[in-house]
Amino acid sequence: MIETDYLVVGAGAAGLSFTDAVLTHSDATVTVVDRRHAPGGHWVDAYPFVRLHQPSAFYGVASVPLGKDAVERAGLDAGFYEMAGADELRAYYLEVLHRHFLPTGRVRFLPCTDYAGAEGTHRLVSRLTGEAREVRVRRKLVDTTYLEGSIPATGAPPFEVAPGVRLVPAGGVTRIAGSARRFCVIGAGKTALDTCVWLLNQGVAPTAIRWIKPREGWWLNRRYHQPHALLPDFYAGAGLQMQAMAEATSIDDLFGRLEADGFFLRVDRSVPATMLHGAIASESEVELLRRIADVVRLGRVQRIERDRIVLDDGEVPTDEGTVHVHCAAEGLRRPPLRPIYEPGRVTVQPCYWGFASFQFALLGVVECLVGSDEERNSLCRPIRYWDRPADYLAAYLALLAGDRARAKVPAVAEWAKDCRLNPLGGLGQHRDHPLVVATRERIKQVGPAAVANAAKLLAATR
Ligand SMILES: Cc1cc2nc3c(=O)[nH]c(=O)nc-3n(C[C@H](O)[C@H](O)[C@H](O)COP(=O)(O)OP(=O)(O)OC[C@H]3O[C@@H](n4cnc5c(N)ncnc54)[C@H](O)[C@@H]3O)c2cc1C
Repeated sequence: MIETDYLVVGAGAAGLSFTDAVLTHSDATVTVVDRRHAPGGHWVDAYPFVRLHQPSAFYGVASVPLGKDAVERAGLDAGFYEMAGADELRAYYLEVLHRHFLPTGRVRFLPCTDYAGAEGTHRLVSRLTGEAREVRVRRKLVDTTYLEGSIPATGAPPFEVAPGVRLVPAGGVTRIAGSARRFCVIGAGKTALDTCVWLLNQGVAPTAIRWIKPREGWWLNRRYHQPHALLPDFYAGAGLQMQAMAEATSIDDLFGRLEADGFFLRVDRSVPATMLHGAIASESEVELLRRIADVVRLGRVQRIERDRIVLDDGEVPTDEGTVHVHCAAEGLRRPPLRPIYEPGRVTVQPCYWGFASFQFALLGVVECLVGSDEERNSLCRPIRYWDRPADYLAAYLALLAGDRARAKVPAVAEWAKDCRLNPLGGLGQHRDHPLVVATRERIKQVGPAAVANAAKLLAATR
């Protein structure tokens, strides 16, 4: 029998951020379990050319900086702050665990272990030996797996594939045996974007890429998501959003305004964007992707045969010289919401529009510094992960309401102000920057109208 204060299921960004908060803000013990062999969650199996889409400055656990805050000097992201890749993230989470968590003597890590609990009991099963162990949890189970999605490296493709078809998951393009005459990238999200950018950067001709895109997506412009010296631009982005929310006449109009401002980006401006996953891209990446002219918009792939791809709304030919790249994983799940804080349980879910690591850390801090589950839930109300443009407004309104509520709890507000994961935490250092002064004034003027109008626009979609 294992005894622990917190049992954290999942050693990904969420589980480790929560654990970090518990170590910093309480004297509790934590047992972290993961079915994977190492900490880092999905990053452990991620495709080799993946990087954060946000700066490293705002990612990871609060107490251990990630990266060196270098500014990229070459490539498509020149001028922007560094974004860690998969190798760096795996090394970072190993360091967090082995150099920071385990030496406290308060953390136990059980890799290759499945959590198999039922109501009221907590059971762990080793994937190596099959041995089962009971756990007595003195405070809470922290479930970081409620929304867990699948990634192409570990999930089967959501379509049939005939024998003989050359199909690889995103990362597989780095290891194909024999050259390809053509690549067919399947998917419209961040993995597909990364794969197309990577292929083009390796010298694959745009004409040798076919991109099967069930939906066109909105991307957040990297220019407005930068830390440190570029933080005034981040704040200016908040001003643009508030202004557009105050003046928009519909959700389409809102996105049209923010696209005109350069805040949201679309690869193909002639196609309505119906997907919004909150990922960040740079203008130069988007520009590069516009070189791919062979874009198939016939819905989702149903099956790939040796000589044709059958989609929801039609078919296109294919052949043996084509390597098909599966970038069509489900991503994040969207099950029914449940309270984040319950007796004996924390269910990690997003509570506003914003950076994941900061939210994960916030949930741990609120658990430790706030007295009751009722109060905790009033500060962190769960929302659904965004998928469509309207979800952006719901999440943004949750951000504003949550900020207002948390500002009334001094311990949480103080923590947020100084936390490195909080994108706007360092704004005070730029308080006299002309862009910051102008944006502050702008937000003061349009803020109330923005909130009222955003709520109205959102209600009209329901
Ligand atoms: C390609 C990609 C890029 C991303 N880039 C960013 C970014 O730049 N910024 C950002 O904020 N977010 C980004 N995200 C979003 C991402 O979801 C979060 O950053 C974060 O890594 C998610 O961490 P997690 O701990 O919630 O989930 P995961 O990383 O999925 O970890 C959950 C863990 O739980 C384990 N688990 C599940 N069930 C069980 C069980 N029953 N027993 C034991 N263990 C179990 C799994 O093995 C897994 O390791 C990105 C996501 C992807 C896929």
